[in-house]
Amino acid sequence: DSRVVIVGAGIVGANVADELVARGWTNITVVEQGPLHMPGGSTSHAPGLVFQTNSSKTMTLFASYTVEKLLSLQKDGKNCFNQVGGLEVATTPARLHDLKRKHGWATSWGIDARLISTDECLSAYSLLNREMILGGLLIPSDGLALAARAVQLLIERTQAAGVRYLDRTRVTGIERTAHKVTGVETSSGVVSADIIISCAGFWGVELGAMVDLPIPLLPLAHQYVKTTSVPGLPHGSILQGGASSDLPILRFQDEDLYYRTHGDQFGIGYYGHKPMPVVAASLGETGDVDEHNMPSRLEFTAEDFRPAWKASQEFLPSLQQTDIQDGFNGVFSFTPDGGPLVGQHPTLDGFWVAEAVWVTHSAGVARALAEVLTTGQSQIDLTECELTRFEEVQLAPAYVSETSQQNFVEVYDILHPLTPRESPRDLRLTPFHTRQCDLGAYFLEGGGWERPHWYEANARLLKDLPAKWKPVERDDWTSQHYSPIAAVEAWRTRTAVAMYDITPLRRIQVSGPGAVALMERVSTGTVGSPGEVCYTLLLTDAGTIRSEIFIARLEVDLLQLAVNGPNDFAYLQRAARHQSQRSPQEWVQVRDVTGGTCGIGLWGPRARDVVRSISKDDFSSRGMRYSQVKKAHIAGIPVTAMRLSFVGELGWEIYTTADNGLRLWDAIFGAGQPYGLIAAGRIAFSALRMEKGWRSYGSDINTEHDALAAGMAFAIKPGKQGYVGQSAVESSSRSPRRRLRCLVIDDKQSVVLGKEPVFYAGQAVGYVTSAAFAYTIGKPIAYAWLPASVSVDESVEIEYFSRRIRATVAREPLVDPTNSRMLE
Ligand code: FAD
Repeated sequence: DSRVVIVGAGIVGANVADELVARGWTNITVVEQGPLHMPGGSTSHAPGLVFQTNSSKTMTLFASYTVEKLLSLQKDGKNCFNQVGGLEVATTPARLHDLKRKHGWATSWGIDARLISTDECLSAYSLLNREMILGGLLIPSDGLALAARAVQLLIERTQAAGVRYLDRTRVTGIERTAHKVTGVETSSGVVSADIIISCAGFWGVELGAMVDLPIPLLPLAHQYVKTTSVPGLPHGSILQGGASSDLPILRFQDEDLYYRTHGDQFGIGYYGHKPMPVVAASLGETGDVDEHNMPSRLEFTAEDFRPAWKASQEFLPSLQQTDIQDGFNGVFSFTPDGGPLVGQHPTLDGFWVAEAVWVTHSAGVARALAEVLTTGQSQIDLTECELTRFEEVQLAPAYVSETSQQNFVEVYDILHPLTPRESPRDLRLTPFHTRQCDLGAYFLEGGGWERPHWYEANARLLKDLPAKWKPVERDDWTSQHYSPIAAVEAWRTRTAVAMYDITPLRRIQVSGPGAVALMERVSTGTVGSPGEVCYTLLLTDAGTIRSEIFIARLEVDLLQLAVNGPNDFAYLQRAARHQSQRSPQEWVQVRDVTGGTCGIGLWGPRARDVVRSISKDDFSSRGMRYSQVKKAHIAGIPVTAMRLSFVGELGWEIYTTADNGLRLWDAIFGAGQPYGLIAAGRIAFSALRMEKGWRSYGSDINTEHDALAAGMAFAIKPGKQGYVGQSAVESSSRSPRRRLRCLVIDDKQSVVLGKEPVFYAGQAVGYVTSAAFAYTIGKPIAYAWLPASVSVDESVEIEYFSRRIRATVAREPLVDPTNSRMLE
């Protein structure tokens, strides 16, 4: 029985204790620096608005579970959730349009939502200024979490089950051996522990520092006020047929405002003021805490609220007869990407984190963490929440501070999914960067890397584009961060040759006498002989997909992996450390070599002509078959060439060290000119990838999916024994309930972007994962999760901003099903 210490008794800590108890864990201590009845963290004064719908499926499902749990958490006949409904109104045409997209997310993730007219907004909320309202989105199952009460009930319930609470006790340090925790040091002695879960809210940075773990969150103050009584505050909302005394929770995002009622008073929250960063350590010791005096509650700065008050009085005219009775600047956590931080310390076993979590997502996050601890896997995908998802450069305090403040500012903005931040930029530049700038690259940012999406230099070829390759006109939304030049780049890749910067795709070196054993154990494939590359899956213990990777065996004990991101690196690093500890003769080292190396994807029917013109090595069909890797020299530059192709063409991934990068680019670019070579960007790359049927981890597939359902069963070697996830794979059903499907849009021109709901026979049954215009077939396509009963050639509809677009389920891949082009 593991000894568990949870740090913090806010809504997250209390829920984690409860979810662990529910799964049979018994040896649990919660340490809280404040008094238990009112610990004094963010939860103690959270107004508790729960708007469930989010662009992220994971976050939305966390919220739905929080609602479900708070409704079931009862005492004296009263639960902890006031399901008054949630109303977001639009006061600008852009917002009204965007609410349609949001309605789509709700439908995709299974939340009942209704787009309503101005009249309906007024019947739901008669205090609104009719003149301003263009329409709204109503979500009947949203409402108010009674967070402080929920914490008290969870404490009671878990105490009754044997959980020990030490309040007014501060954690001051973590006891550990080299690789695992052994206990927490507190203001009243040491508490032994095998597992420590930091639920310290915005004090997370301080807790992390105790174990040299950078926690990328920034505490920011956020203004909240209560008004004096509102004359005639109406009782009864349309949602409960007038039975409830509370109005729906309300968002006025065009002015960064939200509202709830407290009896006959209004509570108003504001995100429009300047970001006000706080250093938790500077807030001092928690002494006596009461409703007005707690570390998370700072002095109200009235001048910052002035615009909000003016806007509120116009928006809800009854407020003109009221004053601000009480206001404060309350502190809670923001992160660089807005997601919570959930997971284990990458190099110290037993130190876990669940921080930067809103009340809205609290029970969902707690359940997920408890599932991971007790079974190894949560039912909801955690990729977007993993503590280890950040690149090293994104953990720098200056980066965390700037981007988290930006998230505060943009929290209610209408953001196009491709819009990059303006700053900080140029964090990671590949060795080819200056040449890309010369070619007019349009850069977007990913993982800190500047990545070309297309090259303006290729505009000169638009006039040569054959009619069959001409892209369709796009609407205002899908034409953002897009250029028809991408069509030229796709066309040249399929008909001549193009070079792609693949440097940002993460490379990991696995070396040592245990390298092959490690990869054999964690993957579903077979590590080939030296000179071979295999495409394989990493599974969870539950048999679902943790990642899909390439393993290139460069030497007997040296592998180069192409993986999906920092989470994969952390996973492999931990697995390697455990193996090295368990069997020292099979030690293995895992090293991220991405930044020190670079790569060019050279693809297209003329790719071989290009390489041959600058290399004496054998790049012939027999000399280097598909899926082989070898060291070679290209224009005198030592390279590792892998015959692989995401775009489904003849060609190679050509890697070298960063110092040689620029010379490699110049050599290939120069040698390619006679063959029509151009540089090509990510739009073409993604489109060609999708046409060819390659899945993208994170958007198409994640830990919620198994290989069979994802159409990736080919990557599991039949009969293989002893790999992670094997027993789950063997016991799983051969007929999945859902499948990842490729859809072709019937009208040949409506491009979608992803996350849109998909309808079959009039019912919402799934959602789009990724989408593109498939240049080779001249039609937009999309991938979507659908019930397995929907089969090839059947018709579905995608809902895009309330418009239904017909599509047909297609057989995959759409291009070159026999791989004749790739294997040439
Ligand atoms: P906390 O409640 O802060 O709990 C952390 C606990 O850890 C604290 O009790 C602290 O005392 C303890 N602790 C820290 N360090 C130590 C240590 N060294 N030793 C022992 N104990 C320690 N969210 C919503 O979903 N909807 C809303 O409408 C909403 N509105 C908000 C309005 C305001 C004004 C504010 C400030 C926040 C709002 N939030 C809202 C956010 C929400 O309140 C927080 O995200 C949430 O309460 C965080 O819960 P927690 O348990 O992680 O943190």
